[in-house]
Amino acid sequence: MSFEIKDRDLLGRIGRLETKSGVIETPLLLPVINPTIQLISPKTIETTFDCKALITNAYIIKKHFQEKVAQKGIHDFLDFTGVVMTDSGAFQILEYGEVETTSKEIALYQEKISTDIATILDTPTGWAASRNRAQHTVKKTLEAAKELTKIKSRDDIVWVGPVQGGQHLDLIAQSARKMGKLPFQIHALGSPTPVMEQYMFDVLVDMILTTKMNLPLERPLHLFGAGHPFMFALAVALGCDLFDSAAYAIYARETRYMTEYGTTKLNQLNYLACPCRVCTKNSPQDVLDMPEIEKQKILAQHNLYVSFSEIRRIKQAIIEGRLWEHLEMRAHGHPSLLQALKSLQKYSQYLEKHGPITKKSGLFFFGSLGQIRPEVTRHRKRLWERYSPPKEGKILVLLPQTSMKPFHKSKEHQKILREVEQEFGEGMYNIHVCTYAAPFGIIPTELGEVYPLSQYEIATPLDLETMNYTAQQVHEYIMTTDYERVILFRDSNLWKKNIVTTCKRACKNKKISLVVLKLKTPLNKKALEDLATSIGHLNLRTLT
Ligand SMILES: [Zn+2]
Repeated sequence: MSFEIKDRDLLGRIGRLETKSGVIETPLLLPVINPTIQLISPKTIETTFDCKALITNAYIIKKHFQEKVAQKGIHDFLDFTGVVMTDSGAFQILEYGEVETTSKEIALYQEKISTDIATILDTPTGWAASRNRAQHTVKKTLEAAKELTKIKSRDDIVWVGPVQGGQHLDLIAQSARKMGKLPFQIHALGSPTPVMEQYMFDVLVDMILTTKMNLPLERPLHLFGAGHPFMFALAVALGCDLFDSAAYAIYARETRYMTEYGTTKLNQLNYLACPCRVCTKNSPQDVLDMPEIEKQKILAQHNLYVSFSEIRRIKQAIIEGRLWEHLEMRAHGHPSLLQALKSLQKYSQYLEKHGPITKKSGLFFFGSLGQIRPEVTRHRKRLWERYSPPKEGKILVLLPQTSMKPFHKSKEHQKILREVEQEFGEGMYNIHVCTYAAPFGIIPTELGEVYPLSQYEIATPLDLETMNYTAQQVHEYIMTTDYERVILFRDSNLWKKNIVTTCKRACKNKKISLVVLKLKTPLNKKALEDLATSIGHLNLRTLT
Protein backbone atom coordinates (compact mmCIF):
# COMPACT_ATOMS: atom_id res chain seq x y z
CA MET A 1 0.00 0.00 0.00
CA SER A 2 1.52 3.28 -0.95
CA PHE A 3 0.52 6.84 -1.77
CA GLU A 4 2.67 8.61 -4.28
CA ILE A 5 2.26 12.31 -5.03
CA LYS A 6 2.63 13.15 -8.73
CA ASP A 7 1.68 16.83 -8.91
CA ARG A 8 0.89 19.59 -6.46
CA ASP A 9 -0.71 23.00 -6.32
CA LEU A 10 -1.60 24.93 -3.14
CA LEU A 11 -2.13 22.01 -0.69
CA GLY A 12 -3.91 19.99 -3.38
CA ARG A 13 -2.19 17.07 -5.00
CA ILE A 14 -2.62 14.45 -7.65
CA GLY A 15 -1.67 11.16 -6.09
CA ARG A 16 -1.63 7.44 -6.81
CA LEU A 17 -3.03 5.27 -4.08
CA GLU A 18 -2.34 1.58 -4.26
CA THR A 19 -5.02 -0.86 -3.08
CA LYS A 20 -5.49 -4.59 -3.57
CA SER A 21 -8.04 -3.95 -6.34
CA GLY A 22 -5.84 -1.56 -8.25
CA VAL A 23 -4.30 1.87 -8.20
CA ILE A 24 -6.61 4.87 -7.91
CA GLU A 25 -5.76 8.45 -8.73
CA THR A 26 -6.62 11.22 -6.29
CA PRO A 27 -8.36 13.62 -5.84
CA LEU A 28 -11.09 11.05 -6.12
CA LEU A 29 -14.83 11.11 -5.68
CA LEU A 30 -16.43 7.92 -4.39
CA PRO A 31 -20.17 7.76 -5.04
CA VAL A 32 -22.04 6.42 -2.02
CA ILE A 33 -23.91 3.21 -2.72
CA ASN A 34 -26.77 2.43 -0.42
CA PRO A 35 -26.86 -1.38 -0.47
CA THR A 36 -30.59 -1.47 0.14
CA ILE A 37 -31.77 1.20 -2.33
CA GLN A 38 -29.85 1.76 -5.55
CA LEU A 39 -30.91 4.60 -7.78
CA ILE A 40 -28.13 3.76 -10.23
CA SER A 41 -26.38 0.40 -9.99
CA PRO A 42 -22.65 0.22 -9.25
CA LYS A 43 -22.18 -1.50 -12.62
CA THR A 44 -23.80 1.43 -14.46
CA ILE A 45 -21.74 3.92 -12.48
CA GLU A 46 -18.61 1.96 -13.36
CA THR A 47 -19.33 1.66 -17.07
CA THR A 48 -21.03 5.01 -17.74
CA PHE A 49 -18.68 7.21 -15.74
CA ASP A 50 -15.49 5.14 -15.76
CA CYS A 51 -15.77 5.32 -12.00
CA LYS A 52 -12.83 3.64 -10.29
CA ALA A 53 -14.02 3.52 -6.70
CA LEU A 54 -17.11 3.72 -4.58
CA ILE A 55 -18.04 3.72 -0.94
CA THR A 56 -20.70 1.78 0.89
CA ASN A 57 -21.66 1.17 4.46
CA ALA A 58 -20.33 -2.00 6.08
CA TYR A 59 -22.68 -1.66 9.04
CA ILE A 60 -25.81 -1.63 6.86
CA ILE A 61 -24.49 -4.50 4.76
CA LYS A 62 -23.76 -6.54 7.87
CA LYS A 63 -27.16 -5.78 9.32
CA HIS A 64 -29.10 -6.73 6.19
CA PHE A 65 -26.98 -9.27 4.36
CA GLN A 66 -24.53 -10.72 6.92
CA GLU A 67 -23.02 -14.01 5.70
CA LYS A 68 -24.23 -13.65 2.13
CA VAL A 69 -21.74 -10.86 1.50
CA ALA A 70 -19.09 -12.51 3.63
CA GLN A 71 -19.18 -15.52 1.31
CA LYS A 72 -19.34 -13.63 -1.97
CA GLY A 73 -17.11 -10.74 -1.11
CA ILE A 74 -18.18 -7.14 -1.45
CA HIS A 75 -17.11 -6.77 -5.11
CA ASP A 76 -19.28 -9.64 -6.30
CA PHE A 77 -22.16 -8.54 -4.12
CA LEU A 78 -22.12 -5.02 -5.57
CA ASP A 79 -21.16 -6.21 -9.06
CA PHE A 80 -18.32 -3.71 -9.18
CA THR A 81 -14.73 -4.46 -10.20
CA GLY A 82 -13.12 -1.23 -8.98
CA VAL A 83 -11.98 -0.23 -5.52
CA VAL A 84 -14.53 -0.53 -2.71
CA MET A 85 -14.28 1.56 0.41
CA THR A 86 -16.49 0.86 3.40
CA ASP A 87 -17.64 3.18 6.11
CA SER A 88 -18.28 1.58 9.47
CA GLY A 89 -21.59 2.80 10.83
CA ALA A 90 -20.36 5.97 12.44
CA PHE A 91 -22.98 7.94 10.55
CA GLN A 92 -25.67 5.75 12.07
CA ILE A 93 -24.25 6.48 15.52
CA LEU A 94 -24.56 10.16 14.75
CA GLU A 95 -28.13 9.77 13.51
CA TYR A 96 -29.53 7.23 15.93
CA GLY A 97 -27.18 7.41 18.92
CA GLU A 98 -25.89 3.86 18.74
CA VAL A 99 -25.28 0.86 16.52
CA GLU A 100 -25.81 -2.83 17.17
CA THR A 101 -22.22 -3.84 16.74
CA THR A 102 -18.80 -3.38 18.31
CA SER A 103 -15.70 -1.88 16.79
CA LYS A 104 -14.05 -5.31 16.79
CA GLU A 105 -16.99 -6.98 15.08
CA ILE A 106 -17.25 -4.35 12.35
CA ALA A 107 -13.47 -4.36 11.74
CA LEU A 108 -13.40 -8.13 11.30
CA TYR A 109 -16.50 -8.02 9.11
CA GLN A 110 -14.82 -5.55 6.76
CA GLU A 111 -11.88 -7.94 6.46
CA LYS A 112 -14.26 -10.80 5.83
CA ILE A 113 -16.11 -9.10 2.98
CA SER A 114 -12.72 -8.18 1.52
CA THR A 115 -13.21 -4.46 1.22
CA ASP A 116 -10.26 -2.52 -0.19
CA ILE A 117 -10.38 0.51 2.07
CA ALA A 118 -11.89 -0.02 5.50
CA THR A 119 -12.85 2.39 8.27
CA ILE A 120 -12.71 1.76 12.01
CA LEU A 121 -15.90 2.25 13.97
CA ASP A 122 -15.27 5.79 15.11
CA THR A 123 -17.50 7.79 17.44
CA PRO A 124 -18.46 10.94 15.55
CA THR A 125 -18.42 14.17 17.48
CA GLY A 126 -21.23 15.79 15.54
CA TRP A 127 -21.59 19.50 15.20
CA ALA A 128 -23.38 20.78 18.30
CA ALA A 129 -21.42 18.59 20.73
CA SER A 130 -20.28 20.14 24.01
CA ARG A 131 -16.60 20.14 24.82
CA ASN A 132 -17.03 17.21 27.20
CA ARG A 133 -18.90 15.20 24.63
CA ALA A 134 -16.30 16.06 21.98
CA GLN A 135 -13.49 14.97 24.29
CA HIS A 136 -15.29 11.70 24.88
CA THR A 137 -15.68 11.02 21.13
CA VAL A 138 -12.00 11.78 20.47
CA LYS A 139 -11.04 9.33 23.24
CA LYS A 140 -13.43 6.59 22.08
CA THR A 141 -12.28 6.90 18.46
CA LEU A 142 -8.63 6.61 19.53
CA GLU A 143 -9.45 3.53 21.58
CA ALA A 144 -11.05 1.87 18.55
CA ALA A 145 -8.01 2.88 16.47
CA LYS A 146 -5.57 1.32 18.93
CA GLU A 147 -7.70 -1.79 19.23
CA LEU A 148 -7.51 -2.32 15.47
CA THR A 149 -3.75 -2.86 15.53
CA LYS A 150 -4.34 -5.85 17.83
CA ILE A 151 -7.27 -7.45 16.03
CA LYS A 152 -6.69 -7.03 12.32
CA SER A 153 -5.50 -10.13 10.54
CA ARG A 154 -5.03 -8.92 6.95
CA ASP A 155 -2.34 -6.61 5.62
CA ASP A 156 -3.78 -6.07 2.16
CA ILE A 157 -6.57 -3.74 3.31
CA VAL A 158 -6.01 0.01 3.58
CA TRP A 159 -7.35 1.34 6.90
CA VAL A 160 -8.79 4.75 7.56
CA GLY A 161 -8.17 6.49 10.90
CA PRO A 162 -10.82 9.22 11.37
CA VAL A 163 -10.09 12.47 13.19
CA GLN A 164 -12.80 13.82 15.51
CA GLY A 165 -13.31 16.97 17.55
CA GLY A 166 -16.24 18.75 15.88
CA GLN A 167 -15.98 22.50 16.20
CA HIS A 168 -13.34 22.30 18.94
CA LEU A 169 -10.20 22.97 16.97
CA ASP A 170 -7.80 22.13 19.79
CA LEU A 171 -9.46 18.73 20.11
CA ILE A 172 -9.22 18.19 16.35
CA ALA A 173 -5.50 18.99 16.61
CA GLN A 174 -5.06 16.58 19.49
CA SER A 175 -7.06 13.87 17.74
CA ALA A 176 -5.07 14.30 14.50
CA ARG A 177 -1.69 14.23 16.28
CA LYS A 178 -2.52 11.02 18.12
CA MET A 179 -4.21 9.35 15.15
CA GLY A 180 -1.27 10.32 12.93
CA LYS A 181 1.09 8.34 15.15
CA LEU A 182 -0.86 5.11 14.56
CA PRO A 183 -0.16 2.97 11.48
CA PHE A 184 -3.07 4.14 9.28
CA GLN A 185 -2.61 4.68 5.54
CA ILE A 186 -5.50 7.14 5.17
CA HIS A 187 -7.09 9.62 7.54
CA ALA A 188 -10.52 11.17 7.44
CA LEU A 189 -12.13 14.21 8.93
CA GLY A 190 -15.34 13.28 10.69
CA SER A 191 -18.46 15.38 11.33
CA PRO A 192 -18.13 18.11 8.71
CA THR A 193 -21.54 17.42 7.12
CA PRO A 194 -23.65 19.90 9.16
CA VAL A 195 -20.94 22.53 8.61
CA MET A 196 -21.25 22.01 4.87
CA GLU A 197 -25.05 21.78 4.90
CA GLN A 198 -25.20 25.15 6.61
CA TYR A 199 -22.60 26.61 4.23
CA MET A 200 -20.18 27.41 7.05
CA PHE A 201 -17.23 26.98 4.73
CA ASP A 202 -14.97 29.28 6.72
CA VAL A 203 -15.44 26.94 9.69
CA LEU A 204 -14.69 24.03 7.39
CA VAL A 205 -11.42 25.74 6.40
CA ASP A 206 -10.41 25.87 10.06
CA MET A 207 -11.39 22.23 10.62
CA ILE A 208 -9.57 20.90 7.57
CA LEU A 209 -6.42 22.93 8.06
CA THR A 210 -6.21 22.10 11.75
CA THR A 211 -6.43 18.44 10.75
CA LYS A 212 -3.83 18.79 7.98
CA MET A 213 -1.38 20.68 10.15
CA ASN A 214 -1.37 17.89 12.70
CA LEU A 215 -1.34 14.80 10.48
CA PRO A 216 1.54 13.29 8.50
CA LEU A 217 1.23 15.17 5.18
CA GLU A 218 2.14 12.14 3.09
CA ARG A 219 -1.06 10.31 4.05
CA PRO A 220 -4.23 10.97 2.03
CA LEU A 221 -7.12 12.75 3.74
CA HIS A 222 -10.76 11.83 3.17
CA LEU A 223 -13.44 14.44 3.77
CA PHE A 224 -16.55 12.59 4.88
CA GLY A 225 -19.86 13.78 3.46
CA ALA A 226 -18.39 16.30 1.01
CA GLY A 227 -20.46 15.58 -2.04
CA HIS A 228 -21.18 18.88 -3.73
CA PRO A 229 -19.02 19.80 -6.72
CA PHE A 230 -19.16 23.53 -5.94
CA MET A 231 -16.90 23.05 -2.91
CA PHE A 232 -14.52 20.39 -4.28
CA ALA A 233 -11.98 23.01 -5.41
CA LEU A 234 -11.84 24.49 -1.91
CA ALA A 235 -11.48 21.10 -0.24
CA VAL A 236 -8.81 19.93 -2.68
CA ALA A 237 -6.89 23.20 -2.32
CA LEU A 238 -6.84 22.60 1.43
CA GLY A 239 -5.34 19.16 0.94
CA CYS A 240 -8.31 16.78 0.90
CA ASP A 241 -7.72 13.82 -1.42
CA LEU A 242 -10.88 11.71 -1.18
CA PHE A 243 -14.56 12.58 -1.12
CA ASP A 244 -17.78 10.64 -0.95
CA SER A 245 -20.99 11.77 -2.53
CA ALA A 246 -24.42 10.66 -1.42
CA ALA A 247 -25.62 14.10 -2.54
CA TYR A 248 -25.92 13.06 -6.19
CA ALA A 249 -28.77 10.67 -5.26
CA ILE A 250 -30.28 12.64 -2.38
CA TYR A 251 -30.56 15.75 -4.55
CA ALA A 252 -32.00 13.75 -7.41
CA ARG A 253 -34.77 12.48 -5.13
CA GLU A 254 -35.59 16.10 -4.28
CA THR A 255 -35.54 17.10 -8.00
CA ARG A 256 -32.50 19.25 -7.41
CA TYR A 257 -30.07 19.90 -10.21
CA MET A 258 -26.41 20.24 -9.28
CA THR A 259 -23.99 22.51 -11.06
CA GLU A 260 -20.38 23.33 -10.29
CA TYR A 261 -21.65 26.68 -8.98
CA GLY A 262 -24.50 25.51 -6.76
CA THR A 263 -27.88 23.76 -6.78
CA THR A 264 -31.15 24.70 -8.46
CA LYS A 265 -34.61 23.20 -8.32
CA LEU A 266 -35.22 21.67 -11.72
CA ASN A 267 -38.57 23.46 -12.08
CA GLN A 268 -36.80 26.82 -11.82
CA LEU A 269 -34.68 26.16 -14.88
CA ASN A 270 -35.50 27.22 -18.42
CA TYR A 271 -32.43 25.62 -19.98
CA LEU A 272 -30.05 22.79 -19.17
CA ALA A 273 -26.64 24.24 -19.90
CA CYS A 274 -24.62 21.15 -19.02
CA PRO A 275 -23.04 19.16 -21.88
CA CYS A 276 -23.90 15.72 -20.44
CA ARG A 277 -26.03 13.19 -22.30
CA VAL A 278 -29.07 13.89 -20.12
CA CYS A 279 -28.95 17.65 -20.57
CA THR A 280 -28.25 17.76 -24.30
CA LYS A 281 -31.19 15.46 -25.03
CA ASN A 282 -33.79 16.94 -22.70
CA SER A 283 -35.32 20.22 -21.65
CA PRO A 284 -36.10 20.80 -17.94
CA GLN A 285 -39.75 20.15 -18.72
CA ASP A 286 -38.94 16.84 -20.46
CA VAL A 287 -37.23 15.64 -17.29
CA LEU A 288 -40.00 16.94 -15.03
CA ASP A 289 -42.56 15.03 -17.12
CA MET A 290 -40.79 11.69 -16.71
CA PRO A 291 -42.13 9.02 -14.35
CA GLU A 292 -40.79 9.60 -10.81
CA ILE A 293 -38.11 6.88 -10.73
CA GLU A 294 -36.94 7.64 -14.24
CA LYS A 295 -36.69 11.33 -13.37
CA GLN A 296 -34.63 10.57 -10.26
CA LYS A 297 -32.33 8.26 -12.20
CA ILE A 298 -31.75 10.79 -14.93
CA LEU A 299 -31.07 13.57 -12.44
CA ALA A 300 -28.72 11.36 -10.45
CA GLN A 301 -26.81 10.66 -13.64
CA HIS A 302 -26.51 14.35 -14.41
CA ASN A 303 -25.45 15.09 -10.81
CA LEU A 304 -22.74 12.43 -11.01
CA TYR A 305 -21.58 13.73 -14.35
CA VAL A 306 -21.18 17.25 -12.96
CA SER A 307 -19.35 15.92 -9.90
CA PHE A 308 -16.88 13.80 -11.87
CA SER A 309 -16.18 16.56 -14.40
CA GLU A 310 -15.43 19.03 -11.65
CA ILE A 311 -12.87 16.61 -10.19
CA ARG A 312 -11.24 16.28 -13.62
CA ARG A 313 -11.19 20.06 -14.04
CA ILE A 314 -9.52 20.41 -10.65
CA LYS A 315 -6.89 17.82 -11.54
CA GLN A 316 -6.12 19.64 -14.79
CA ALA A 317 -5.84 22.90 -12.82
CA ILE A 318 -3.36 21.26 -10.43
CA ILE A 319 -1.19 20.09 -13.33
CA GLU A 320 -1.28 23.54 -14.93
CA GLY A 321 -0.62 25.31 -11.63
CA ARG A 322 -3.95 27.12 -11.88
CA LEU A 323 -5.79 25.77 -8.87
CA TRP A 324 -5.95 29.21 -7.24
CA GLU A 325 -7.52 30.76 -10.33
CA HIS A 326 -10.03 27.90 -10.45
CA LEU A 327 -10.76 28.28 -6.76
CA GLU A 328 -11.33 32.03 -7.09
CA MET A 329 -13.77 31.40 -9.91
CA ARG A 330 -15.70 28.82 -7.86
CA ALA A 331 -15.63 31.01 -4.76
CA HIS A 332 -17.67 33.56 -6.66
CA GLY A 333 -20.47 30.99 -6.95
CA HIS A 334 -21.59 31.66 -3.38
CA PRO A 335 -20.74 34.36 -0.79
CA SER A 336 -20.02 31.71 1.86
CA LEU A 337 -17.36 30.16 -0.36
CA LEU A 338 -15.82 33.55 -0.96
CA GLN A 339 -15.83 34.14 2.78
CA ALA A 340 -13.99 30.84 3.20
CA LEU A 341 -11.41 31.84 0.63
CA LYS A 342 -10.88 35.17 2.39
CA SER A 343 -10.40 33.31 5.67
CA LEU A 344 -7.35 31.60 4.15
CA GLN A 345 -5.46 34.82 4.84
CA LYS A 346 -4.68 33.61 8.34
CA TYR A 347 -3.10 30.44 6.92
CA SER A 348 -1.03 32.20 4.25
CA GLN A 349 2.27 31.23 5.90
CA TYR A 350 1.29 27.56 5.97
CA LEU A 351 0.11 27.65 2.36
CA GLU A 352 3.40 29.24 1.37
CA LYS A 353 5.46 26.67 3.22
CA HIS A 354 3.80 23.70 1.56
CA GLY A 355 2.92 25.04 -1.90
CA PRO A 356 5.13 24.36 -4.95
CA ILE A 357 7.88 26.91 -5.65
CA THR A 358 7.64 27.05 -9.44
CA LYS A 359 4.88 26.33 -11.89
CA LYS A 360 4.41 25.71 -15.56
CA SER A 361 2.25 28.79 -16.02
CA GLY A 362 2.09 32.41 -15.02
CA LEU A 363 -0.34 33.76 -12.41
CA PHE A 364 -3.53 35.70 -12.92
CA PHE A 365 -4.48 38.31 -10.34
CA PHE A 366 -8.09 39.44 -10.47
CA GLY A 367 -8.16 41.52 -7.30
CA SER A 368 -7.08 41.74 -3.70
CA LEU A 369 -7.90 38.07 -2.97
CA GLY A 370 -4.76 37.22 -4.88
CA GLN A 371 -2.65 38.65 -2.07
CA ILE A 372 -3.34 35.45 -0.15
CA ARG A 373 -1.55 33.43 -2.82
CA PRO A 374 1.56 31.60 -1.63
CA GLU A 375 3.64 33.31 -4.33
CA VAL A 376 2.89 36.76 -2.88
CA THR A 377 3.66 35.61 0.66
CA ARG A 378 6.85 33.93 -0.58
CA HIS A 379 8.15 37.04 -2.33
CA ARG A 380 7.56 39.16 0.78
CA LYS A 381 9.20 36.57 3.01
CA ARG A 382 12.24 36.13 0.78
CA LEU A 383 12.72 39.85 0.36
CA TRP A 384 12.80 40.34 4.12
CA GLU A 385 14.70 37.23 5.04
CA ARG A 386 17.16 36.61 2.24
CA TYR A 387 17.62 39.77 0.23
CA SER A 388 20.04 42.66 0.73
CA PRO A 389 20.35 45.47 -1.80
CA PRO A 390 23.78 45.99 -3.45
CA LYS A 391 26.15 47.78 -1.04
CA GLU A 392 27.11 50.53 -3.50
CA GLY A 393 23.46 51.39 -4.14
CA LYS A 394 23.05 54.51 -2.04
CA ILE A 395 20.20 55.94 -4.10
CA LEU A 396 17.02 53.98 -4.54
CA VAL A 397 15.31 54.69 -7.82
CA LEU A 398 11.71 53.48 -7.80
CA LEU A 399 10.01 52.95 -11.14
CA PRO A 400 6.37 52.01 -11.56
CA GLN A 401 5.20 48.71 -13.05
CA THR A 402 4.66 48.66 -16.79
CA SER A 403 2.49 46.49 -18.96
CA MET A 404 5.57 44.73 -20.29
CA LYS A 405 7.52 42.28 -18.17
CA PRO A 406 10.22 41.93 -16.98
CA PHE A 407 9.69 45.55 -15.98
CA HIS A 408 13.34 46.55 -16.29
CA LYS A 409 13.26 45.55 -19.96
CA SER A 410 10.19 47.64 -20.77
CA LYS A 411 10.66 50.57 -23.10
CA GLU A 412 9.48 53.00 -20.40
CA HIS A 413 12.14 51.88 -17.93
CA GLN A 414 14.83 51.59 -20.61
CA LYS A 415 14.18 55.14 -21.82
CA ILE A 416 14.34 56.68 -18.37
CA LEU A 417 17.48 54.78 -17.45
CA ARG A 418 19.16 55.65 -20.75
CA GLU A 419 18.46 59.35 -20.19
CA VAL A 420 19.71 59.23 -16.65
CA GLU A 421 22.80 57.39 -17.77
CA GLN A 422 23.52 59.87 -20.59
CA GLU A 423 23.21 62.74 -18.20
CA PHE A 424 25.10 61.36 -15.26
CA GLY A 425 27.39 58.63 -16.56
CA GLU A 426 29.50 57.48 -13.65
CA GLY A 427 27.05 58.76 -11.09
CA MET A 428 24.96 55.74 -11.98
CA TYR A 429 26.95 53.26 -9.93
CA ASN A 430 25.33 54.66 -6.82
CA ILE A 431 21.88 53.98 -8.11
CA HIS A 432 19.86 50.89 -7.36
CA VAL A 433 16.75 50.51 -9.47
CA CYS A 434 13.64 48.72 -8.22
CA THR A 435 10.12 48.48 -9.55
CA TYR A 436 7.05 48.94 -7.41
CA ALA A 437 4.41 46.59 -8.72
CA ALA A 438 1.10 45.18 -7.57
CA PRO A 439 0.61 42.80 -5.90
CA PHE A 440 4.21 41.94 -4.98
CA GLY A 441 5.44 45.32 -3.76
CA ILE A 442 9.13 45.94 -4.43
CA ILE A 443 10.87 44.04 -7.21
CA PRO A 444 14.62 44.72 -7.31
CA THR A 445 15.86 44.72 -10.92
CA GLU A 446 18.22 41.82 -10.31
CA LEU A 447 15.23 39.67 -9.25
CA GLY A 448 13.04 40.83 -12.10
CA GLU A 449 13.21 37.53 -13.93
CA VAL A 450 12.79 35.23 -10.95
CA TYR A 451 9.50 33.29 -11.11
CA PRO A 452 6.77 34.57 -10.94
CA LEU A 453 7.80 38.25 -10.87
CA SER A 454 7.59 38.64 -14.61
CA GLN A 455 5.18 35.76 -15.24
CA TYR A 456 1.91 37.24 -14.09
CA GLU A 457 -0.98 39.39 -15.22
CA ILE A 458 -2.98 41.72 -13.03
CA ALA A 459 -6.28 43.45 -13.74
CA THR A 460 -6.23 47.26 -13.62
CA PRO A 461 -7.39 49.68 -12.32
CA LEU A 462 -6.11 48.22 -9.09
CA ASP A 463 -8.50 47.93 -6.17
CA LEU A 464 -7.85 49.86 -2.99
CA GLU A 465 -6.71 46.86 -0.96
CA THR A 466 -4.14 45.86 -3.58
CA MET A 467 -2.87 49.45 -3.77
CA ASN A 468 -2.62 49.67 0.00
CA TYR A 469 -0.83 46.34 0.28
CA THR A 470 1.72 47.31 -2.38
CA ALA A 471 2.25 50.74 -0.82
CA GLN A 472 2.78 49.09 2.54
CA GLN A 473 5.45 46.82 1.02
CA VAL A 474 7.21 49.89 -0.43
CA HIS A 475 7.09 51.54 2.99
CA GLU A 476 8.55 48.53 4.74
CA TYR A 477 11.27 48.18 2.12
CA ILE A 478 12.47 51.75 2.60
CA MET A 479 12.25 51.39 6.37
CA THR A 480 14.32 48.22 6.51
CA THR A 481 17.09 49.16 4.04
CA ASP A 482 19.92 51.73 4.22
CA TYR A 483 19.51 53.94 1.17
CA GLU A 484 20.55 57.52 1.67
CA ARG A 485 18.11 58.93 -0.85
CA VAL A 486 15.01 57.89 -2.77
CA ILE A 487 14.03 59.01 -6.26
CA LEU A 488 10.46 58.05 -7.04
CA PHE A 489 9.05 58.11 -10.53
CA ARG A 490 5.35 58.36 -10.04
CA ASP A 491 2.55 56.99 -12.17
CA SER A 492 -0.52 58.89 -11.00
CA ASN A 493 -2.77 57.10 -13.45
CA LEU A 494 -2.38 53.71 -11.84
CA TRP A 495 -1.48 54.64 -8.30
CA LYS A 496 -3.28 57.88 -7.47
CA LYS A 497 -1.33 59.26 -4.50
CA ASN A 498 -0.70 56.00 -2.64
CA ILE A 499 2.93 55.37 -3.42
CA VAL A 500 3.95 59.03 -3.15
CA THR A 501 2.34 59.36 0.27
CA THR A 502 3.90 56.14 1.46
CA CYS A 503 7.38 57.10 0.25
CA LYS A 504 7.10 60.52 1.85
CA ARG A 505 6.20 58.94 5.16
CA ALA A 506 8.95 56.33 5.01
CA CYS A 507 11.63 58.83 3.97
CA LYS A 508 10.55 61.22 6.70
CA ASN A 509 10.78 58.44 9.28
CA LYS A 510 14.20 57.40 8.00
CA LYS A 511 15.28 61.06 7.72
CA ILE A 512 16.40 60.66 4.11
CA SER A 513 15.53 62.87 1.17
CA LEU A 514 12.98 62.06 -1.47
CA VAL A 515 12.69 63.38 -5.01
CA VAL A 516 9.39 62.71 -6.76
CA LEU A 517 9.41 62.90 -10.56
CA LYS A 518 6.83 62.25 -13.24
CA LEU A 519 7.35 59.16 -15.33
CA LYS A 520 7.63 60.98 -18.59
CA THR A 521 10.35 61.00 -21.21
CA PRO A 522 12.20 63.03 -22.20
CA LEU A 523 12.78 64.24 -18.67
CA ASN A 524 12.23 67.98 -18.44
CA LYS A 525 14.83 70.43 -17.28
CA LYS A 526 13.46 70.65 -13.77
CA ALA A 527 13.50 66.87 -13.38
CA LEU A 528 17.09 66.64 -14.62
CA GLU A 529 18.14 69.39 -12.23
CA ASP A 530 16.45 67.61 -9.37
CA LEU A 531 18.19 64.41 -10.30
CA ALA A 532 21.53 66.16 -10.70
CA THR A 533 21.24 67.74 -7.30
CA SER A 534 20.24 64.47 -5.86
CA ILE A 535 22.95 62.31 -7.36
CA GLY A 536 25.69 64.98 -7.41
CA HIS A 537 25.10 65.93 -3.85
CA LEU A 538 25.38 62.39 -2.73
CA ASN A 539 28.56 61.76 -4.70
CA LEU A 540 30.23 64.69 -3.04
CA ARG A 541 29.18 63.39 0.31
CA THR A 542 30.30 59.84 -0.25
CA LEU A 543 33.69 61.01 -1.60
CA THR A 544 34.53 63.03 1.48
ZN1 LIG B 1 -26.11 17.35 -17.36
